[in-house]
Amino acid sequence: MKNMSMQKIAIFPGSFDPFTVGHQDIVLRALSLFDKVIIAIGSNSDKKGFFEIDKRKQWIENTFIDEPKVEVDVYSGLTIEYCKNKNAKYLLRGLRTSSDFEYERAIAQMNKKMDASVESVFLLTSPELTAVSSTIVRDIIRHGGDAKDFLPEAIYNQIL
Ligand code: ADP
Repeated sequence: MKNMSMQKIAIFPGSFDPFTVGHQDIVLRALSLFDKVIIAIGSNSDKKGFFEIDKRKQWIENTFIDEPKVEVDVYSGLTIEYCKNKNAKYLLRGLRTSSDFEYERAIAQMNKKMDASVESVFLLTSPELTAVSSTIVRDIIRHGGDAKDFLPEAIYNQIL
């Protein structure tokens, strides 16, 4: 067992409204890089989500019920402050497109400016998951379609 202060802890922040197979893929791949991955659902009072935060959290917990290296949490405020509270030195994000890249670059550079000790780490989407997004999954659900292919099984079984 590693000394707790030596643990490589990554925060994976996002809205996860809902958590998709794209998100799941990033987390599973990150497990070989980090000792712990904290999936952190950002709660922003002026941006109400589609699904209740508590449900989003519970669904993600169920998805990783057999994975002790994954934790799920809800946070508010600056992500970089949250990293400090959790003693996390890595910020994990996924990249799909060039517009993701531009957006993520700006955030990561601002975060670096605020706390140089936290490193942003990006994993490229798996090719077959490039098109998966929470926005599209919400649209499918809203219109009564079947989102089976885009949701982790534990979430698909509970979301309806
Ligand atoms: P946010 O509102 O912060 O963008 P999201 O829940 O939409 O939160 O996404 C969280 C992270 O997951 C982002 O880094 C996003 O790029 C990444 N992500 C979302 N969908 C995919 C996917 N299909 N493949 C890889 N990464 C993804």
